[in-house]
Amino acid sequence: MYGKETMQSYEVLRPSQPMDCWATVVASTQLSPTIKSIRLRLHDQSFRFLPGQAIWPKFERDGKQFTKIYSISSSPSQCPEVELCVSRVGWSSAYIQDLEPGDTISVRGPYGMMTLAECPDRPRLYIAEGSGIAPVKSHIEWLAEQRFSRPVWLIQANPETPDCLPYADVWRSLQQTWATFHYIEVLNSPVESVLSKLPLNLHIADIDICAVGDRVSQLQDAVLSLGASWAQVRAEKFVAF
Ligand SMILES: Cc1cc2nc3c(=O)[nH]c(=O)nc-3n(C[C@H](O)[C@H](O)[C@H](O)COP(=O)(O)OP(=O)(O)OC[C@H]3O[C@@H](n4cnc5c(N)ncnc54)[C@H](O)[C@@H]3O)c2cc1C
Repeated sequence: MYGKETMQSYEVLRPSQPMDCWATVVASTQLSPTIKSIRLRLHDQSFRFLPGQAIWPKFERDGKQFTKIYSISSSPSQCPEVELCVSRVGWSSAYIQDLEPGDTISVRGPYGMMTLAECPDRPRLYIAEGSGIAPVKSHIEWLAEQRFSRPVWLIQANPETPDCLPYADVWRSLQQTWATFHYIEVLNSPVESVLSKLPLNLHIADIDICAVGDRVSQLQDAVLSLGASWAQVRAEKFVAF
């Protein structure tokens, strides 16, 4: 079993209370044919969030205001800049993808449950599909900054364009500099095809899953069928509401 870290002291994070804030787009980069990274500079310097939290950009359409939620894909250490990772599927995601550097947008946050406030004391397995890599990237970047010493595994697939994984180059190079980080790229096949061959004892890991719609329960079922228990598994489901 893994015990508590004794030699290393890790950062403990405290998020802000949810706040309304203006943000300016500083960069917008295509990561795959359907997924873009959008970097925002928040005007309120006091904004703080936990890896895994999200913001709600506000939109105006036909004179009516509405809002959708997007996970922050960058580490909290980059505040007041935050990165979003957005799949182009409908009106709101197209609006965010089409913002240009210099544009401003109103956001509210942070919110979210699948978070880290401090370094965990067990190995971690992340499973991400499509833009579900967003909150996972925030977790992994922060754990890397902490020099987290337990094994961290990332299994990534992308049903939108199965031969193109967002941030694959980031994960490949992180693997070169962080000895306990292991990246498995799943190209042109489902995540399930590699899960049973994973050289990680699922009984001793904490497992976070992020994907779209029904894929979340399918991936949960897959790890449970391999021996993980419900208590080990958390999931974030991207749905439109
Ligand atoms: C907690 C949470 C966090 C989220 N974080 C992100 C994020 O970081 N990045 C992101 O791109 N989306 C994220 N979403 C989804 C986002 O909030 C919107 O629902 C999504 O952008 C669709 O809105 P739309 O108006 O563009 O399209 P809509 O017309 O509202 O939806 C069109 C279709 O797209 C499907 N859909 C929703 N989200 C996705 C997606 N991400 N990929 C593929 N299909 C999808 C819907 O089920 C629907 O069938 C998140 C959702 C939740 C609940």
